[in-house]
Amino acid sequence: MPEKILVVDDEKEICKLCQRVLTESGYSVLTAGDYNEAIKILKKERFDLVLTDLRLDGHSGLDILSNIKERYPLTSVIIMSAYASVESAIEALRKGCYDYLLKPFDIDELVFTVKRCIQHQRAEQEVTLFKETSYIYQFAQEISKTGDEETLLRLILKSALLISKADSGSILVYDDSTETLELKVSIGLDENITKIMKVGERIAGYVVKRKEALILENGLKKYPEFSHVPSRDDITCSICMPVMLQDKVIGVLCLNKQNVKYYIFSEHEEKILNVFCSHASLVIQAFRVNKELNELDKLKNQFIANVSHELRTPLMSISGAVELLESSMPDGSKQLIELISRNTQRMTKLVGELLDFSKLETGVFKYCFMEESLQKLLNDIVKDFEKPFHDKNIELTASIPGTLPPVKIDKSRINQAISNLMSNALKFTEPNSRVKLTAKKSKGEIVISVEDTGIGIDKEHLGRIFDRFYQVDGSITRERSGVGIGLAISKKIIEDHKGRIWAESESNKGSKFYITLPI
Ligand code: ADP
Repeated sequence: MPEKILVVDDEKEICKLCQRVLTESGYSVLTAGDYNEAIKILKKERFDLVLTDLRLDGHSGLDILSNIKERYPLTSVIIMSAYASVESAIEALRKGCYDYLLKPFDIDELVFTVKRCIQHQRAEQEVTLFKETSYIYQFAQEISKTGDEETLLRLILKSALLISKADSGSILVYDDSTETLELKVSIGLDENITKIMKVGERIAGYVVKRKEALILENGLKKYPEFSHVPSRDDITCSICMPVMLQDKVIGVLCLNKQNVKYYIFSEHEEKILNVFCSHASLVIQAFRVNKELNELDKLKNQFIANVSHELRTPLMSISGAVELLESSMPDGSKQLIELISRNTQRMTKLVGELLDFSKLETGVFKYCFMEESLQKLLNDIVKDFEKPFHDKNIELTASIPGTLPPVKIDKSRINQAISNLMSNALKFTEPNSRVKLTAKKSKGEIVISVEDTGIGIDKEHLGRIFDRFYQVDGSITRERSGVGIGLAISKKIIEDHKGRIWAESESNKGSKFYITLPI
């Protein structure tokens, strides 16, 4: 559809010239010879641009400008005048006129100014559309964790009002299963408006049925299909758009222009609002999916916490009983008891990891920071791992200088983070090879590393091993035990100590894990 232009001038020749030139440039042009005729035309139709003379019989072009800005704030105005004075130009610009054409102007100047004005008008609306859309996207992501859908819908409605410069509006959400529309948010409307309606009922129901936008002008009197709907005199013009996700209606957006006399929503506004509605529907959908995922995530964490708790109590009893039995058993049964003991310890470790994991997810990981000697802590870890490494015939060496400065840490959590690396080195290294634990002071931090000569990690997996549940070999039939949360826990602990953790590795060439702790 070509843009609509109204030319107002008491010189017939100017009107004719403008009409001819601008029609040739692809616009749809009407002319008016005086103020009253212009106002009459403007009452009936909405224009994208009005070109008006500054001096009309008894009236000023500035009156037309004010009139237009009051009725159609999105319509641009260009003033034409032979009596240009700086003051009148400034006043026209102050009142919202886009530009000023000095008579006599040549054809190129006219076409150039009009084109630039229309482009500017479109670009302005598209920029607002873009700004508002990206804002609601960001907002939806933020509030999907804690906020509710109503807050999001209110923001969408506010953005729609901003884009269309409308005065009031509402959003209704459609429930496919009951074929019902429910009004969820409204701005600038009476609280007592109808809140629930079926498909086909009232205006919004009609829009759902037709799946098409509807523009209503000057109250509802001229629409027999809505004769039963009470008309509101203060609403001059409305636009009701279906909010569609693919080919399904998920809601209706209604916007109203109030208390301005002859406003008509333009096709361009309809187009812009259509784009906005399709963005809004994606945002609503993303919000709903996110919300559901967050709720499932909460359930999952709760489930892990509950299961771990339930498992921990009987495991503690078994461990205690096994310890008692170990001391009073004849030699032949000792091996069996040791087996039970080892497996109970393994399960206890796993349950502990699961509990830590659920705490990590729900943000209730607690620390007790104290000034500690890393030398003692690292030597204790080496002592704890001596036997398992020896049993697997892996040479464990350590380089822990006695000069390491004290650090402020939660001792047992740091022990846990480093022990996870040691357990992995033990697990992923074949017998007859070597593992080394090293610590040294570097600039402002202490660097601890655990280096093995084990199976290594391929480049494509290396970036993901600190992710929750990630395992290079995640199959049930894999040779090595584990559930893939040890490194995620270590990472959380180290980052909560303001340190860093990373790995260097190559497949079949061993791995080196690093941890830094600030001094
Ligand atoms: P888990 O050991 O329980 O599977 P982790 O989070 O501790 O979980 O480790 C994640 C994955 O990273 C392991 O499954 C393994 O694929 C890889 N990985 C970790 N440490 C090593 C290592 N020292 N050598 C080779 N692969 C490793």
